[in-house]
Amino acid sequence: MRDDHEHSQDIFITDGSEESKEAWIIEEHEQLFGQHNGSICVHETAEFTLALGAHHSGSLTFRPGSVGRILGKHSGSLHVAPTARVEVLGDQSGSVHIESGALLQVEPGGKLAGSLYVAGQIENRGVRGGTVHLAGGNIHDLDSGAIKEPTLRNGMSFYEW
Ligand SMILES: [Zn+2]
Repeated sequence: MRDDHEHSQDIFITDGSEESKEAWIIEEHEQLFGQHNGSICVHETAEFTLALGAHHSGSLTFRPGSVGRILGKHSGSLHVAPTARVEVLGDQSGSVHIESGALLQVEPGGKLAGSLYVAGQIENRGVRGGTVHLAGGNIHDLDSGAIKEPTLRNGMSFYEW
């Protein structure tokens, strides 16, 4: 199914020159080692692992039925579609959108930093911090699951990690 959604191009500006880059589309089972800048889209039934020590900067989308594991660091928005399942054992920094029927599991040692839009389920056994918008979904803080509280400075909320 490649016609049911669009991939936006990322524009990178280096030394004043613009370069557009297609999204990295994952159709089977792939791992990221090292650094990747730009959007990643994980298609139905595919699997994507962001390995320990790897860093992805850009949006990360999991389509229905896909599976993900974030062991390294992801900086950018995370979108989890219905029936997709993602485990965070590393560091997710950026807004998170969990659709109805999607599951995000934060494991011990995992971190979720950023605003959350939750129509599906989040199971937190790690630590999370950020504004939460519940849209018919649930967040379960289980076992050692913790919530990072913001510190107020000049009337603004800061999350210090
Ligand atoms: Zn796609």
